[in-house]
Amino acid sequence: MFGKVPIVLVFDVEPDQRELSPTNRPDWLGFKRLVNWIRPRRRQIEQATGRQATFNWALRLDEQIAHAYGRADWPLHHDHELFHELLAEGDGFGIHPHAWRWDESEDRWLEDHGRPGWPEHCTRLAHATFLKAFGWPPEFFRHGDRFLSQGLVQTLDALAIPFDLTMEPGHPGVERLAPHERTTGSIPDYTATPTYPFRPSKADFRRPGRPAHNVWSLPVATSCEIATPASQPVLSAVLGFPADRVIPICHAALTRDDPFLVAVARTDVFTNPDWTTQFEAAFAYLEQFVVQGAGRFCSPRQALSWLESGLAHSPSDRHASTPFRRSA
Ligand SMILES: [Zn+2]
Repeated sequence: MFGKVPIVLVFDVEPDQRELSPTNRPDWLGFKRLVNWIRPRRRQIEQATGRQATFNWALRLDEQIAHAYGRADWPLHHDHELFHELLAEGDGFGIHPHAWRWDESEDRWLEDHGRPGWPEHCTRLAHATFLKAFGWPPEFFRHGDRFLSQGLVQTLDALAIPFDLTMEPGHPGVERLAPHERTTGSIPDYTATPTYPFRPSKADFRRPGRPAHNVWSLPVATSCEIATPASQPVLSAVLGFPADRVIPICHAALTRDDPFLVAVARTDVFTNPDWTTQFEAAFAYLEQFVVQGAGRFCSPRQALSWLESGLAHSPSDRHASTPFRRSA
């Protein structure tokens, strides 16, 4: 068995606000600050370990972005140079659609998980927008607010997206994550979802089974249920939440049998000083684990390859030359 534990650290690249003004088009300050913060940290980690440290960026390229910013590829267009730099440093890129829809009758956003075909449409738009901008398909998918459905998993198969990083084992089903927001449908129950990678059953995408979908699910460790049974079950304990809750979750994933970790942070952690402090503390824990030689920051493909084969190398599906790289 390869001696290093795979750590897939994913950043949800999002606007700083969830319910965007349809006219203001504010900069995504959290994203810029996070990139500026993490690039020197990456260099330090790589110098200390002699190995590449790969981070993963899950991009919002959906209908909410198209409606509020005039184009679904707005972040790629607006922060072109930052993305070039992250690409040049070897990071992974995927899509992070949310299912927000502007409700004309009420003049506000509605997270429309329950509208037939709408989440699938948002995912197809994000996929097409990514493909057009990068010249190669997204390396992974991660839906917003841990929403997933049988129709979405079928769409991932149809789009040949290889990895899903949406499911968060341990969380019961809930109507919505934020009580004040308007939503339809509901967020699935993941209490029986395994904490290891699996191919979702066609009968129930939340569990392994045959016949299976093509996509691999790499579950995200955010539930305190795994580490401390008495904790709050609704919110996803992503990096930026109190570190004294997040670190035990990460630690439990990194030290179990067949250890691996998918951990997530939203880019807005750098818009609030307390969230930043909590994020930095949780990151420092992961960094220490890596620098001590126990783990490695990697892509979903590398993680699965290492877990399956125990080898230190994995094939890359990224083309050597892409439109994004050529103009760098
Ligand atoms: Zn999100």
